[in-house]
Amino acid sequence: MSAAIPKEQWAQVVIKTGGPIEYKKIPVQQPGPDEVLINIKYSGVCHTDLHAVNGDWPLPTKLPLVGGHEGAGVVVAVGDNVYDIKVGDYGGVKWINGSCLSCDFCQQSDEPLCANALLSGYTVDGTFQQYCIAKAAHMARIPKECDLEAIAPVLCAGITVYKGLKESGARPGQSVAIVGAGGGLGSLACQYAKAMGLDIIAIDAGDEKREMTKQLGAQHFVDFSTSKNVVSDVKAATVDGLGPHAVILVAVNEKPFQQAAEYVRPRGTVVAIGLPAGAYLRAPVFESVIKMITIKGSYVGNRKDSAEAIEFFRRGLIKAPYKTCGLSELQNVYKMMQEGKIAGRYVVDTSK
Ligand code: NAD
Ligand code: ZN
Repeated sequence: MSAAIPKEQWAQVVIKTGGPIEYKKIPVQQPGPDEVLINIKYSGVCHTDLHAVNGDWPLPTKLPLVGGHEGAGVVVAVGDNVYDIKVGDYGGVKWINGSCLSCDFCQQSDEPLCANALLSGYTVDGTFQQYCIAKAAHMARIPKECDLEAIAPVLCAGITVYKGLKESGARPGQSVAIVGAGGGLGSLACQYAKAMGLDIIAIDAGDEKREMTKQLGAQHFVDFSTSKNVVSDVKAATVDGLGPHAVILVAVNEKPFQQAAEYVRPRGTVVAIGLPAGAYLRAPVFESVIKMITIKGSYVGNRKDSAEAIEFFRRGLIKAPYKTCGLSELQNVYKMMQEGKIAGRYVVDTSK
């Protein structure tokens, strides 16, 4: 059933919340009847992984924990009840590792809302190891012509922003502000928004991110670190000065979550995706009412959103920049991420 699978493997393990992480050898697990074992070749590093190490959220992680949830690799073993995946297939491990498939939400394809969802790199071990388990029903199906290194960031960042853009209701020709556009989710959001025919206002800091978001398809850039008035600068970047039809919040600071309602266009939609620690959304009641705005959250995507986001990539529409380093260097990636120094995404190569 399976090729030579080692008994031990390299992994990055969170021993206690707050870190540091430990690069060490741990046993390789065996898949259960409804699971597959994937030899992870590459994994993207999402800011969520850093939130998990830092204990930023009101939801505890398992401990010890192998983080990571943007893993792309090759299936090396399948459980007895798995009929549609075979050894050798390309598979992706995403944030939703598994869900019950029978609750009210799962029945309506809102799997991320399942109360019993398993979260990769959070409540179950994730992709910062060489061999990772995924529930077969949720494993991302990756076509063979896709490059495993380049597609890794699509498995969380791509799926999440694709879903968020759909949730925003923005249509081709309309405008979208992407807040945190220079980060991992933001860079993918620029590419999906471009593919959807939207006019993009990128909001982030510094010349490197300005240049990168321009390359990715953003027509405008507002630097939050130097702008005297972000609200008026964002409005001014729209053709008629009335503000963007949609705002995609993927920043890791609270402030923009308290500004977006002020510059979104009347009838527009603010989609909160980023999850800064302890943060609150804020909106003025008067303007929110008379502008008839919508404020909503968006949380990863279901299996169909995932397949669609991967299909955009397969068709060559999504080319976001990433840098690659060894899994052994993950701690350094976290350091750069904490300092906001990463333009785009980092991907770790599990063989190094
Ligand atoms: P990242 O660190 O790669 O990018 C964050 C970006 O936000 C950086 O470029 C940073 O400069 C920018 N930023 C910081 N303050 C800002 C401000 N005031 N205005 C504009 N931009 C600002 O992080 P990431 O991996 O892209 O993740 C972003 C967030 O999304 C994290 O909180 C993560 O946990 C969350 N997330 C949510 C979901 C979901 O399903 N809702 C899924 C994945 C990630
Ligand atoms: Zn993520």
